[in-house]
Amino acid sequence: MPEIVILSGKGGTGKTSLTAAFAHLAQNHVICDLDVDAPDLHLLLHPRPRHTEAFISGHEARIRAAACNRCGQCIDLCRFGAIMETDPPVVDPLKCEGCKLCVSRCPQTAIDFLPRHCGDWYVSDTRLGPMVHAQLFPAEENSGRLVARLRQEARELARQTRRDLILADGPPGIACPVISSLSGVDLAVVVTEPTPSGRHDLERIANLTAHFKITTLVIINKCDLNPAQMAAIETDCRRHGLTVIAALPHDPAVTAAMLAGQTVTEYAANGFSLHLQNAWAAIQDYLSHNRRKE
Ligand code: SF4
Ligand code: SF4
Repeated sequence: MPEIVILSGKGGTGKTSLTAAFAHLAQNHVICDLDVDAPDLHLLLHPRPRHTEAFISGHEARIRAAACNRCGQCIDLCRFGAIMETDPPVVDPLKCEGCKLCVSRCPQTAIDFLPRHCGDWYVSDTRLGPMVHAQLFPAEENSGRLVARLRQEARELARQTRRDLILADGPPGIACPVISSLSGVDLAVVVTEPTPSGRHDLERIANLTAHFKITTLVIINKCDLNPAQMAAIETDCRRHGLTVIAALPHDPAVTAAMLAGQTVTEYAANGFSLHLQNAWAAIQDYLSHNRRKE
């Protein structure tokens, strides 16, 4: 079953607005929000969770006050400064790296090593189709593992419900969660804008997708922002062998749709929406000619 991930080198390029519009234009798909550190697709799709599950990853130390003799050894041992000098000592879960040193050295075996609840993930219903999404708790890590888990759940949901496409809003940047969102997908669509930082971010993503041998299509958002940078970014795309499937002018309908809690293609049947329909047709065309063997 084809999997598409929409990416951008950084936040603020309009990636989520465009993903939501494609979720509106797509048929028989599962929507997946892989931006687990700062998800915002839910603001446009208003998911109604029908299944919620804790995301458990790694461990954290917790001191049992009744068993602790206050010797203070754990405080000296923890090189992350995660154990507070209180009476009795207390582990700060935001600082605990789960190295287990204090657990194994405590003379009173007073420190438990508990599975770490890092966030929650959901299977939800939306007006545009089922959605798999998550929220990592503040300062939690392991977002790459959560992304992998969401992709697995989205594939399972698609199989169970006989859906034939997974459309994912990828994490921004090029770090571990992005790599996790990319491995094995059929197509990456990168949203960029004609600015020096947009070009730089596109270059980084293009190198990453080339490394994973993933076909990459490009959408240039706010293409009328800077004509010189627009020309430069088109040259960059040619150099990298990337196909530009849409150049979208700035359109206040995007913000108005966001404020209305709708996708831009639902909100306004204007030229901008027509550009997106053409871009979606180009994506479908690519998929129909490059279907992966199941
Ligand atoms: S090492 Fe164990 S007994 Fe000593 S202060 Fe820490 S938790 Fe308490
Ligand atoms: S498990 Fe490691 S990081 Fe966590 S409190 Fe113990 S020594 Fe510190």
